[in-house]
Amino acid sequence: PSPDEPPYLRGLNAPQREAVLTTEGPVLVLAGAGTGKTAALTARLAHLLYTRKAWPSEILSVTFTNKAAREMKERVGRLVGDVVEGMPWLGTFHAIGAKMLRRHAELVGLQSNFTILDTDDQIRLLKQLIAAADLDEKRWPARQLAGLIDGWKNKGLTPDMLDAGDSELFANGRGQELYRAYQDRLRALNACDFGDLLLHMLTILKAHRDVLEQYQQRFKYIMVDEYQDTNSSQYLWLRLLAQASKNICCVGDDDQSIYSWRGAQVENILKFERDFPGAAVIRLEQNYRSTSHILAAASGVIANNAGRLGKTLFTDAGSGEKVEVIGIWDGPEEARRVGDEIEAHVRGGGSLDDTAILVRAQHQTREFEDRFIAIGLNYRIVGGFRFYERQEIRDALAYLRIVHQPADDLAFERIVNVPKRGLGDKALAKLHMLARAQGIPLTLAAARILDTDEITPQARRALGNFIGDVARWRDMANTLPHPELARQILDESGYTAMWQAERSVEASGRLENLNELVRAMEEYETLGAFLEHVSLVMDNDATAEDPKVTVMTIHAAKGLEFDTVFLVGWEEGVFPSQRALDEGGLASLEEERRLAYVAITRARRRAVIMHAANRRIYGQWTSSIPSRFIGELPGEHIVEQNSMSGGESLWRANWSERADPFASIARGTGRGPGWQRAATAGSFSASPKRVTEARASAVSLGNKGRSDISLGMRVFHQKFGYGTVAEIEGNKLEIDFEQAGRKRVMDSFVTID
Ligand code: ATP
Ligand code: MG
Repeated sequence: PSPDEPPYLRGLNAPQREAVLTTEGPVLVLAGAGTGKTAALTARLAHLLYTRKAWPSEILSVTFTNKAAREMKERVGRLVGDVVEGMPWLGTFHAIGAKMLRRHAELVGLQSNFTILDTDDQIRLLKQLIAAADLDEKRWPARQLAGLIDGWKNKGLTPDMLDAGDSELFANGRGQELYRAYQDRLRALNACDFGDLLLHMLTILKAHRDVLEQYQQRFKYIMVDEYQDTNSSQYLWLRLLAQASKNICCVGDDDQSIYSWRGAQVENILKFERDFPGAAVIRLEQNYRSTSHILAAASGVIANNAGRLGKTLFTDAGSGEKVEVIGIWDGPEEARRVGDEIEAHVRGGGSLDDTAILVRAQHQTREFEDRFIAIGLNYRIVGGFRFYERQEIRDALAYLRIVHQPADDLAFERIVNVPKRGLGDKALAKLHMLARAQGIPLTLAAARILDTDEITPQARRALGNFIGDVARWRDMANTLPHPELARQILDESGYTAMWQAERSVEASGRLENLNELVRAMEEYETLGAFLEHVSLVMDNDATAEDPKVTVMTIHAAKGLEFDTVFLVGWEEGVFPSQRALDEGGLASLEEERRLAYVAITRARRRAVIMHAANRRIYGQWTSSIPSRFIGELPGEHIVEQNSMSGGESLWRANWSERADPFASIARGTGRGPGWQRAATAGSFSASPKRVTEARASAVSLGNKGRSDISLGMRVFHQKFGYGTVAEIEGNKLEIDFEQAGRKRVMDSFVTID
């Protein structure tokens, strides 16, 4: 390296330099984790700007997340100065697609100020269309259709391009018709969904040569990070844009392809060499991230996958510490142990910011969040909501709150029509008016309005059933253990069924979260104590700048690195996931293994893998088998440790069961400490008392009728018009209406003529 070489080249190795300096023609960088692919891509961007090969607006750079885009901007900014401020085409596929589409919206029948629908809006729209098509939404759930439509869009298929087989996947061949109706409806609303951002652009680029040529000339250089996770639609879009200049550089790692469930096609790596003949293929082999034990452990696991493109990896970072594999007793102990390790790390001068806990599924964060709150350790959840802030958890909590505390109006409002009970906006507005007029809680207003004609018979029936259910659950609270109560409420209210009907990956994640919520309740003596805990957890007083440990899924950790990484829940059925095991296919198992590879390679210096001997499932202790991926870790690169606090002999008994895999699958007998506590009948006495008090206080509110109304008086009612008061009973009136005949109404809703 010469002394006057530009700053962005300093420290790069030979193949990285090649990736940076080969600016003309197609380039594919195919390399393992931590080899500096993203670093090379960033330097390449800096190089193009520094040497004035292109203006910032002439480079299209695609990253996988918004965070990655921000980081790349910052890094290039440090390397070449302020020019990056104007990097309009650096971002995710979605962000770039949206920006482009706004400029040409009219070509697909939209206006440039179109709205981008979120998943909820999308589902609501599809529900309407399914109903309009005379289909039973129970049989043909909107979520399922949404999943299919997303899949088609990921493949770059418009409604016209579907074949009979595609259409057959929904409502006996009506998939295409509904997809078309959905697209028409979106257009009428001047809206599109995420999939449309690229799909519409594809349509435009294919149909309008002038637009295509305009972009082909504009983008002198195209760069793509995490290329192994692009889907077909993204690939087709890139191919069109790059066709003229052919200056496209993609970096990726086939071993890190972890989004096939969202339509990503690792085959795009192979297609690249076919579609861009003569592409320079560059391999990076030096890993700069991890020490050699960590790297070897990861390589040992991924070696079990067949059909890899294959690559060698080495590191100069020294051997470092071996990967720790720690067996612990159960879930709560796992969280405790991780908390202890992190506290020790901080006492030793370490920072929270360089530590992460990686989970396979979102619901696993709960145990750690609870523990960290308890010991006052700041954490952040990346790529998702905190457990108690998730929609389904808030809904479930609302059910529990309304049972525990009848005057909780916010809870009532949240779930009175979730799942849909046929309560219209009008009925709910009435309820609100009444509650406000009489100064009573909504639950009580609901009870009072029931035997009147204020709301339609349909709404009356729905509300009656709901109130009846709530009353019954309150009674059940006197006798049932509260986790069991919660489970019954979620079942009987139809809430669980609502998500089950949706048959989507997302919905099954929500169901897992609901199970986890019930599991969490088992750790508290009473429903009241649990709800108290939740409200404290919600009140998080860490500021944005405070250092925090990161808790996230492995998927969200892609491309990131941390000094210390805790990889938790490495048990069969957790990781690899039960879904992957049930599907049974080699493909899903190999994708899980790639996830394991991604997970281990996030660590710079220390990787700790944990597996629990017991997990609580539906209130039953179940003994678990360590993940097969633990068995695939090469022995010379790991240290194993079994840590047990309490129940040592049981642990041993359990461990010896492992010789016989069938014995260890058998359900446990409820011997964990938390379960015993939950099963002690005496411990529930506090909650029913509180419920009864709350009920009594609610009933004593506002029972008196209006003193300004008397028999024979002429009054006016918004819905029924004029009438004469025939009977008065507390705050209910029987009125002979001039048009509507005799009706029973609430006194709050009449005015004196
Ligand atoms: P992943 O596959 O996980 O996305 P990657 O290949 O993109 O990894 P980077 O994140 O770019 O790898 O780099 C990994 C680490 O190595 C970073 O901390 C980066 O700063 C460092 N690094 C990259 N190249 C070099 C180099 N030539 N010399 C020293 N450190 C480097
Ligand atoms: Mg990277």
